[in-house]
This record gives sequence, C-alpha cells and structure tokens, in this order.
Amino acid sequence: MTDSQEKVNLLDLDRKGLTQFFIKMNEKPFRAQQMLRWIHQKGVIDFDEMTDLSHALREKLKANAYIRTPGLLSMQHSKDGTRKWLFSSFNNSAIETVYIPEKNRATLCISSQVGCALNCKFCHTAQQGFQRNLTPAEIIGQLWYVVHTLRKEIEKENPVTNVVFMGMGEPLLNYENVLPTISIMQDDIAYNLSKKRVTLSTSGVLPFLEKFIDDTDIALAVSLHAPNDAIRTEIMPINKKYPLADLIKTCKRWTQKHKRRKVTIEYVMLAGINDQKHHAHELVKVLNNFPAKVNLIPFNPFAGADYKCSSKETIQAFQEILMAHDIITIVRRTRGDDIDAACGQLAGRVLDRTKRSQAYQSMKQYQLPVVVNTTVSQEPTIN
Ligand code: SAH
Repeated sequence: MTDSQEKVNLLDLDRKGLTQFFIKMNEKPFRAQQMLRWIHQKGVIDFDEMTDLSHALREKLKANAYIRTPGLLSMQHSKDGTRKWLFSSFNNSAIETVYIPEKNRATLCISSQVGCALNCKFCHTAQQGFQRNLTPAEIIGQLWYVVHTLRKEIEKENPVTNVVFMGMGEPLLNYENVLPTISIMQDDIAYNLSKKRVTLSTSGVLPFLEKFIDDTDIALAVSLHAPNDAIRTEIMPINKKYPLADLIKTCKRWTQKHKRRKVTIEYVMLAGINDQKHHAHELVKVLNNFPAKVNLIPFNPFAGADYKCSSKETIQAFQEILMAHDIITIVRRTRGDDIDAACGQLAGRVLDRTKRSQAYQSMKQYQLPVVVNTTVSQEPTIN
C-alpha cells in the first residue's frame, strides 16, 4: 500500500464525512466546516494555506490526509461558448465535463462513471463499455475545478449556477459515490446550490431511484426515449429489467413527495424509430395525470451510429401534439457539437495531436495550467 492510499482524500468527504474524520482524529467537529470552506468555497487545497488552522493541526492533516483533484488534460472551447474539459481520473482514465453558458446562467454537465454499462443504442459513451465508477473526489472535483478556474482565470464567463448529472455514466449505478457529492453541492458553505439547480438524469435503475427519492430533494430527469416497452427495450436494454410502467410508477412517487415540481422526461428524437405522430399520442397516454415536462433532444450523431436525427418538421409536429395536451415540451438546443460535447457524444476520447495543440493554444489564451498526460493516450479510442 502506498502512503497516499492509507491517507484519506478529503475531497471524497461531505460535511458528515469530514465531521467523522475530525472526530476520529480527536479534533473538534467544527473543523469540518472550516475544511469545507477552504476546499469548496475558497478553492484552497494546500494545507499550508489554511491559515486559521494551527501549525500542529496542519502537520497532523498532512500525516493523515491529502486533497487530490482530477488532473487537467485539456479544454476545448466551442464557437457557441460551450467548453469541454477533459480530466484524468486517478487511474488515468479520461473524464469529460461540459460547461454550457446561457444568458443569465451556466450549467455544468458532469460525469459519474468512466464509460457506461447500460448500452443504450443511441449513446456514444455506451460504445466504450463500462470501465469504473468515479470516486466522490473525481465527481465533485469536476465542479471544484471549473468553479475555481472560472473565478480565478476566466472571469468573463458566468459562474456555474446549475449542475446536471448528464455526462458520462449512469449516476444511479454509482449511487454510493454520487450521494455525498450531491450533499457537497447543496451545502451552504460549499457550493450552496438549491434543490432546483442540481439535476440527476437516469435511465431508471429502479431500486436506486427509490433510494434517491428517499434520500435527496434535487431535480429528477428520466431518459424515457420511447412511448412503449417494445421500442424502449430495443433502444435501451435496461427496459427489460425495469419496464416503462414500473418506471412511471416510481416517478409518480417522486412527484407525490415534491408537490408542484415536475419530472423532466428526456426523449431523444430518432428518425423513423420513436418520432412519429402516433408515438407522440402514445406518449401523451403514458404521461396522463403525471406532472412531467418533456425535453425533446435532437439525436446527436457519432461515427458508427445506427440512427439519424428526426427532421425539424417531425420534431415540431411531435412537440405540437404534446403541447396540445397541455404537456410542457421544449426542444433542447444542441450545444457544443463542434467539440463533441453534445448529449451522448461524450466518450472519454483523448484528443488527437491537432486538437490537442488547438486546445493548448486556447488554454494558453486563458492562462490555464496545461497538463498533457501521455499515459492517457492508451485510454479508450483515439481518433
Ligand atoms: N445515464 C444517464 C445520463 C446519460 S446522458 C441517463 O441515461 O439519463 C444524458 C442524456 O443524453 C440522456 O437522456 C441520454 O439518453 C441522452 N443521450 C445519449 N446519447 C444521445 C445522443 N446521441 N443524442 C442525444 N441525446 C443522447
């Protein structure tokens, strides 16, 4: 075992975990709050810079703990303002994080796993298979990095106002590690994000969705993508295990707990597969008496994909049918597709040399630290 494996990465811990850590060290529980502020509010991860801790405590911390964030590999900047960061996880896999600025807000789309085990047929991440769960530090580290980089170095950008678990992976299949990161996001002495500003998106892993409903109050988005079991099973194999009716039943439990809030239903528009008018009418029936708002997501293509995106007219006709039945329906605008940062395009790919050097130039422009870790080039596919 190496030294750092015996020590605790404090970035893994929420307020509860930090409190337990300090109690175990025979220190006062309020130290947890000091530590949360240093790391998450101020962005300080060097114990020596934590000036309200005594010298002795700092030395004790160095002996028992460390603070490690994912390393930066590259950043790409889309012409529409979207940015995609590629981080190296603690075993040198690639993690992708996408920043989407809008007029008065900015959303950070974070990853919860390296790869994904679910094998949804229209998703690029699925093609790389499942590698492993990210640790809490690797998940919250994405937010930590972007928030403090924006604050210190890219000041003209909107600060992060919203976080969505819509990057690589199925967050409910890494529930144990995702849960403390939600608590850090919501903690008023960390990122202080309200329940409406953090959204978990899931394909519907029902046992964990039940736990999620009991344990948290953040927003819920469900990848439905089909109006019946036959189509859903074809494009999302998880539907065999957790069919549509059961999924809707569980979602209803969420809406019963959170009166006046709506579940976001995600529906990818695949030409000729799930986008016809009769599908829209079928979806209306599925969502009958259920407080939902629908996001129609134009399919984002990737090399080797078996699907095409529905035409604009088809998407509009689909939207109109839902709206005519009083279902709030928006068509999600595709962002960052020139840098493969759009929904379902994240694949943990390592940039090729040209893109890497472009990323290098853009990082120099923003004076970001540039770390190009060549060991990651063994990771998934290199285009
Ligand atoms: N595992 C989670 C998060 C996945 S990514 C989930 O299933 O919800 C976030 C959203 O992007 C999901 O709704 C996902 O189904 C969708 N998506 C995946 N691939 C896509 C693609 N190629 N085009 C458009 N949306 C896609």
